[in-house]
Amino acid sequence: MKTFLEEVNEKIKGVPIQRCYHCRKCTAGCPLASVMEYNPNRIIKMIQMGMKKEVLNSSTIWLCASCETCITRCPNEVDIARMMDILREMAIKEGVPAKEKNVILFHEAFLWGIKLRGRINEPLMMVNYKLRSGDFFSDMSMGIEMFLKGKLPLISPKTKNLRAVKDIFEKTRQ
Ligand code: SF4
Ligand code: SF4
Repeated sequence: MKTFLEEVNEKIKGVPIQRCYHCRKCTAGCPLASVMEYNPNRIIKMIQMGMKKEVLNSSTIWLCASCETCITRCPNEVDIARMMDILREMAIKEGVPAKEKNVILFHEAFLWGIKLRGRINEPLMMVNYKLRSGDFFSDMSMGIEMFLKGKLPLISPKTKNLRAVKDIFEKTRQ
């Protein structure tokens, strides 16, 4: 039977995560480390120690924003953003509920927006998310502020090759 570390490495298909020597440069640059249950390099340590249940149940894997700051800073090119994707996929496949409320609905609204236009239109995505979640009023003031500063354009360009995007969705059955 494969260890948790072997399972993760097999799916990453890149630099094996045991190459991490815990310098914490990833965590120092991660914009979300301060609100994470376990910081990014701690998650790597937990994988190395076989703590699958704790990792898949942690809010960290759902709070990661896939910004890739960590891999940019890592001297060993450990792809933490990809690792977090793999951990989220594992949690879904194994029926582990997401620890962050409505986060899966947010991901679904994001993918819905990409499938529709090939690019994200934030206001459209937020409407879709609000309808899915029924959470109409949280972040409302921030949304209005962003809109007034021109950060939420109502019209955004569509991708030129929407067919190629739809093909990706079909191939991955989304
Ligand atoms: S920056 Fe790379 S080597 Fe350093 S702790 Fe993070 S993953 Fe490990
Ligand atoms: S990809 Fe995730 S773990 Fe890495 S820096 Fe961004 S938020 Fe943090």
